[in-house]
Amino acid sequence: MTLSLASHRPLHPVAMPLILALWLSTIGNAPLWLALLDLPESHSPRAWLGIAGFGVVVLASTVAFLSLLVWPRWRKPVGLVLLLIAAFNSYFMYTYGVVIDPSMLTNAVQTDAREVRDLLSWSMLMVVMLGVLLPGWWWWKQPVQQMPARALVVKQISLAVVATLVMLVMVWLSFENLASTMRNHKSLRYMVNPFNTVYATTRLVVGQSAHASQLVQPIGADAVLLGSASDVDTSPLIVLVVGETARAANVGLAGYDRDTTPRLKQLQDRGELVYFSNVSSCGTNTQVSLPCMFSDLGRDGYGKTEARFENLLDVLQRAGLAVLWLDNQSGCKGVCDRVPHAETRELKDPALCPDGECFDEKMLRVLPERLGQLDPVRRARGTVVVMHQMGSHGPAYYKRTPTGFKVFTPECRSNVLQECSGQEIINAYDNSVRYADHFLGQTVAWLKSQKRPTALVYVSDHGESLGEKGLYLHGMPYAMAPKEQTHVPMAVWFSSPMLNHLGWDKSCWLDQTNQPVTHDNLFSSMLSLAHVQTRLYKPQLDVFSGCQSGQRQVQTVTGRPGAPEHAANPLGTTVDADPKPSHG
Ligand SMILES: [Zn+2]
Repeated sequence: MTLSLASHRPLHPVAMPLILALWLSTIGNAPLWLALLDLPESHSPRAWLGIAGFGVVVLASTVAFLSLLVWPRWRKPVGLVLLLIAAFNSYFMYTYGVVIDPSMLTNAVQTDAREVRDLLSWSMLMVVMLGVLLPGWWWWKQPVQQMPARALVVKQISLAVVATLVMLVMVWLSFENLASTMRNHKSLRYMVNPFNTVYATTRLVVGQSAHASQLVQPIGADAVLLGSASDVDTSPLIVLVVGETARAANVGLAGYDRDTTPRLKQLQDRGELVYFSNVSSCGTNTQVSLPCMFSDLGRDGYGKTEARFENLLDVLQRAGLAVLWLDNQSGCKGVCDRVPHAETRELKDPALCPDGECFDEKMLRVLPERLGQLDPVRRARGTVVVMHQMGSHGPAYYKRTPTGFKVFTPECRSNVLQECSGQEIINAYDNSVRYADHFLGQTVAWLKSQKRPTALVYVSDHGESLGEKGLYLHGMPYAMAPKEQTHVPMAVWFSSPMLNHLGWDKSCWLDQTNQPVTHDNLFSSMLSLAHVQTRLYKPQLDVFSGCQSGQRQVQTVTGRPGAPEHAANPLGTTVDADPKPSHG
């Protein structure tokens, strides 16, 4: 039998966008319809009528859109691209409960081979077969009648106008119902294929072209290091570990009923480490959170500007410190562009990098050598190192832990999380948190072995959904993200020489550990810790400001406050505040 899905009789050219629209708005939007039918308020005939009305709106909008988009010259490739978009979107929306918005699209664009490998599965292949290859084959092979260009333009534009009118009438008829559903379930608006992708792409292209055309603007030109330079062996060393996908809910220190953080607990019991229990991330994915947490603008300011600015690392470097970024993940998203940086994830090491991927401990292994390569003049003043973890990056959580660290079993060993029981997913995730605890414990052990003043700051970039409310992974638009994706762990450890060096009392920040803190607090807190003075420093965002002489009271906030009347430097003396930072 020959595969002959296409009819041999040529179809009318206007039938083509109609048929494609019918496919896209029904099968191509299956996750949307399933999600709508699954809503608690969808169990009445009235609600079904509302869903049917919304169906007409989606169909009519798609017909209008395709009538304007699908023209003979590029009819076939455009159809295939739309089928591809609908199939992949549907797969990810249905499998992981994610939605398609600009930041999710950035994620997809910036992904790498390893992340793609982690996502490949048989079910994805099935979806591509059924959603792209079969209809795509028909679309490609189907003969279409020739029609004079002018007549076709008139017909398709008329169709677009009629479809738009139908859409508007249906919206008007079912407005009340539609508006309340969309208001109560905001994520639905990011689930309509292919409009979610069209919207996200437009936003991204407009935003990025504006972004790319700009030079990175310097910040903190006034940054200076307080105190005198010592030498390489006695200058302070601060390590900032940026966690990946670690959520506070599964951290033993945070009261989780499993002991996922025995090493950190030991340090806490000895009074050397403090855990901040109420920390919110700036974004719900790495692309947003990572640059945002190093920015001085805070969540509000960072989200509003398209301009490009330097960040914390540039300010630390400008003040004269040695700065190093080690990356065991998919890069620093531009944060480390102007400071020394190195990637560790594909190094050769049979023990720590089996299967071509390195566990996070590899960063610690290369750290001493990399530190030795930094400018000795800067090192004599002090060093700040960032280690960017692979952490609990999903969905293949089981790949994040070496064999010896499988404490919680059985583990989910699939990247299609639905194939595993909820407990198996949690087991695999918890093992990754426990390995992160081991990594942090090893880092502290190494820092302790140094004679110089040392400190460790740990904070995760965002959290993760592990099946709560049918959601997996992360990246929900912030306004509708569940707490699992935004509540992150943060901990701070100081060596005794560091406390002496800073002149801080060990308990000076203890009253802050249960207060609401956000990624906004990182910038000023790190400046404070590194003894760097600049007008960008905001005492009310410094979690250590209670440690400064003068015992300035810290006010931790969940949003970005207005500019303070006076900005204090980390030693407590006040300097005139920059009334309007040039980029603020
Ligand atoms: Zn991340």
